[in-house]
Amino acid sequence: MSEPAPPPCPATADVAVVGAGAAGLATAIFAAEAAPGARIVLLEGAARIGAKILVSGGGRCNVTHDVVTADDFNGVRPVVRNVLAAFGVGATIAWFASLGVDLEREETGKLFPVSGEAATVVRALVARCRALGVTLATGHRVADVERAAGGALRVRHAHGAVAARRVVMATGGRSLPRSGSDGGGWEIVARLGHTVTPTHQALVPLVLAPGSPFGALAGVSHPVELATFAGGKLVDRRAGSLLWTHVGVSGPVVMDASRHWVIAAAARAAPELRLSLFPGEDFAAVDRRLAACARARPKLSLTRMLAERVPERAAATLVRAGAAVEPATPIARLTREERRRVVHALTALALPVERPRGWNYAEITAGGVPLAEIDHRTMASRVVPGLHLAGEMLDCDGRIGGFNFQWAWATGHLAGRATATGD
Ligand SMILES: Cc1cc2nc3c(=O)[nH]c(=O)nc-3n(C[C@H](O)[C@H](O)[C@H](O)COP(=O)(O)OP(=O)(O)OC[C@H]3O[C@@H](n4cnc5c(N)ncnc54)[C@H](O)[C@@H]3O)c2cc1C
Repeated sequence: MSEPAPPPCPATADVAVVGAGAAGLATAIFAAEAAPGARIVLLEGAARIGAKILVSGGGRCNVTHDVVTADDFNGVRPVVRNVLAAFGVGATIAWFASLGVDLEREETGKLFPVSGEAATVVRALVARCRALGVTLATGHRVADVERAAGGALRVRHAHGAVAARRVVMATGGRSLPRSGSDGGGWEIVARLGHTVTPTHQALVPLVLAPGSPFGALAGVSHPVELATFAGGKLVDRRAGSLLWTHVGVSGPVVMDASRHWVIAAAARAAPELRLSLFPGEDFAAVDRRLAACARARPKLSLTRMLAERVPERAAATLVRAGAAVEPATPIARLTREERRRVVHALTALALPVERPRGWNYAEITAGGVPLAEIDHRTMASRVVPGLHLAGEMLDCDGRIGGFNFQWAWATGHLAGRATATGD
């Protein structure tokens, strides 16, 4: 049987949006709402829309977070602040409600659709596009965008070309390439004259050296503080939950820290990831704790003392691997040197990180088109007249918890509205 014909794509349009991910869908909707009757085409390389949204948030789609500030992002602060000011969490909640998707807040502050299903989000966005008359051209991979006659831009795709007054590039990053986001959009905007800063895996689990003693802890999770160093200098410190996996470490705190380790590794800056079981406390403070414990409860073992913070198995492995001390040893019986090693292991244990787990496991890309090359009020390119950029392809990445979708909705809102007003 022959393949079904791809949906038709007109030869001309007012606005062509490239990439029907979160940012592209938002762009198309806001463009169509702001300019009723405008001919808007949304070109998507994949056969189906929404692959990444469907797998996001463990299949529930963490749409946004109840508090979102510029500090939650790695990106030029004032620009991020302005984008969020134009379309913040309140606007996102109201917008989704208008699409028929009510959101509810988890204890963590993350917001999910009340249905508990990411499919609700995809269905609502696609239905709104259809209701507004947006042409959804799936199976239309875009190969290039070039200048056309009369100041328009020509978008060359798998089945021909569409000339448009405005083009919005929303092709995402390189995370989860099987979803259709493989970084090809950056080559297109680079050919048009944009800069693309080096791109790195971010929000990604980290792989530890084979044979590390921590493999036995797979499945165990507990709170930690992680400090990342590059060339001996502290570049990031954060606390949260760490999950030991069969290949390394994951969990929110690792995902958030990963970009710093990855960027330092790419710069060959001797990256180091150090783990502490005592967030906010330094060596001296933890040493004092141990000393006080040894005085008050001389028979208490290290593992028992740590039990209130970490599962016993994890405490035992960390002490054994990090300090070469038998974890059942009563604290009062530790020699001075052993206690020094134990405190070091509990506050600054160097994890033998080998590499990030790979683009198939990375939730986001760090790097992309510099925010300095766009006008933050309109997401318009400062390099190519008529071009706008939205979403992950910009050099801005948020922490885990709904922040990256918030960026996609907000930049899509600005780009979409601007295409209609001619800004
Ligand atoms: C497993 C996973 C879970 C995640 N969970 C969350 C979460 O719960 N909350 C959160 O905030 N963030 C989450 N993220 C991050 C979030 O998915 C991204 O921030 C967001 O999808 C970026 O939106 P975007 O539209 O910019 O890019 P994308 O969603 O990547 O969309 C880009 C689209 O462009 C298409 N495309 C690419 N190149 C071309 C081309 N040349 N021609 C035509 N089409 C093209 C792609 O097929 C794709 O559909 C998750 C990411 C992953 C991988």
